[in-house]
Amino acid sequence: MSAFDVDLFVIGGGSGGVRAARVAASYGAKVMLAEEYRLGGTCVIRGCVPKKLMVYASRFPDEFADAAGYGWSVPQASFDWTTLIANKDREIARLEGLYRATLENAGVVIAKVRAVIEDAHTVRLATGERVRARFILVAVGAYPTLEPRIPGGEHGITSNEVFDLARQPERILVVGGGYIAVEFAGIFAGLGSAVTLLHRGDKLLRGFDDDVRVALAEAYAKRGVTLALQRTLSGLERRPDGALDAVLSDGETLIVDQVLVATGRRPNTAGLGLDKAGLAVDEVGAIPVDGYSRTLTPSVYAVGDVTNRANLTPIAIREGHAFADTVFGGKPTMVDHELIPTAVFSTPEIGVIGHTEAAARALCGEIDVYKAQFRALKATLSGRDERVLMKVIVEKATDKVVGVHIMGPSAGEMIQLVGIAVMMGATKADFDRTVAVHPTAAEELVTMRVPVPQTA
Ligand code: FAD
Ligand code: NDP
Repeated sequence: MSAFDVDLFVIGGGSGGVRAARVAASYGAKVMLAEEYRLGGTCVIRGCVPKKLMVYASRFPDEFADAAGYGWSVPQASFDWTTLIANKDREIARLEGLYRATLENAGVVIAKVRAVIEDAHTVRLATGERVRARFILVAVGAYPTLEPRIPGGEHGITSNEVFDLARQPERILVVGGGYIAVEFAGIFAGLGSAVTLLHRGDKLLRGFDDDVRVALAEAYAKRGVTLALQRTLSGLERRPDGALDAVLSDGETLIVDQVLVATGRRPNTAGLGLDKAGLAVDEVGAIPVDGYSRTLTPSVYAVGDVTNRANLTPIAIREGHAFADTVFGGKPTMVDHELIPTAVFSTPEIGVIGHTEAAARALCGEIDVYKAQFRALKATLSGRDERVLMKVIVEKATDKVVGVHIMGPSAGEMIQLVGIAVMMGATKADFDRTVAVHPTAAEELVTMRVPVPQTA
């Protein structure tokens, strides 16, 4: 008889954990998975998927407004928050059911409780049950912080709560300048809320190309988002009418209905018992792992946001899959974290792969930068005053395209496809000999011929 109850115990039923459990089971492993909240994890329940549904909702007013230039008279449109949230909830429940069915069909035993580590081979469930496992996979994800701690900070909400608000806030303050803050500022502005976006830096989206950061700020300002930059939140106070006084670091007070704090996420490692398996976490609470997602304890692996490598769903899924291939499939597999296409679902949308101009200058020596800023064809008749930005960065010595940055409609879809070419090591000459698809916005990627003149 085996000394273990299962071959694999997965803690966390999100993007990484579900993929790892299913693939390990397909290799014949006996697998158990614990999920303390809802199967599907952050992405499905309160992340990518409901967020994108809300992004779609927020873009209809653009279509209604743009229609007039094309001859359509659209009657006064109205929006019902309760309908959107109810329909979103129904879709999320359906997806959660699919995740459960996928796991059950693969033979994975699901425990709908919290699990913690008791030693390098033992997991304890909240029910008190102990399970001995040959391998433990930690895939517990991350949680949104309400930082910095300020007086009245408890009145703020995070991305966890924003999906379930009973009412659409008429006035909302969004704190942060990263993915989540930028996306929700866009969502609420599109839905008609008065939005202030408060960020401690001088530009949004640190780490993105400067041209994109500048263009997004301009686009948001045109769309009516009030940008409060180089300031922070000092305190929150509930008013008798239920609204909030939000006091900023320069003394200004804003009266708002909600404050969404999106100042980052931290790995879910508190109280997990990692120390009992001989493991320590880093300064942000993440579990250090090697390229195979191995921790320092041979029986314990970790994937996804809890490792704080690249906190994106497709990466968690790949890491989970690679873990199962490595440990149960006899195919040692590492995940490449070097070149990751990504999109920010702001409106206008952003799609990026590879180096920013500044990073390319530092890392690649001489570069050529090709840049186009233009009005999309659709905007000519609609009269929409918004420009598309495209930027291609080329390493001069090799002619390789080392970065592509797009801001405009469908930028996420475009970067997924151009990302394949960049992954394959495409050169600028390859881009140039690709025939344009006309008339599209994407054709600009293959028709830019003259690099931006370099300043000395
Ligand atoms: P998770 O999906 O968070 O899963 C971890 C699971 O573990 C959770 O279900 C949790 O309840 C459970 N758990 C935690 N502790 C325990 C325990 N002790 N016992 C049992 N269960 C436990 N990424 C993209 O690629 N594209 C996007 O558009 C995108 N949008 C996002 C929008 C928002 C608002 C947020 C917050 C995130 C978004 N992300 C997006 C990031 C993406 O959601 C995460 O990178 C991804 O979910 C990480 O997967 P994971 O498996 O590591 O963790
Ligand atoms: P990010 O790390 O992307 O952004 C956090 C923001 O908060 C930054 O602008 C940061 O400023 C600011 N901040 C941090 N600490 C403080 C503080 N103490 N006071 C004031 N401001 C502060 O985190 P998010 O929460 O936006 O998102 C978490 C992750 O989830 C993302 O990084 C991404 O990996 C993933 N995600 C992906 C999405 C997608 O793929 N479309 C969508 C949503 C999330 P500064 O820049 O100065 O550090």
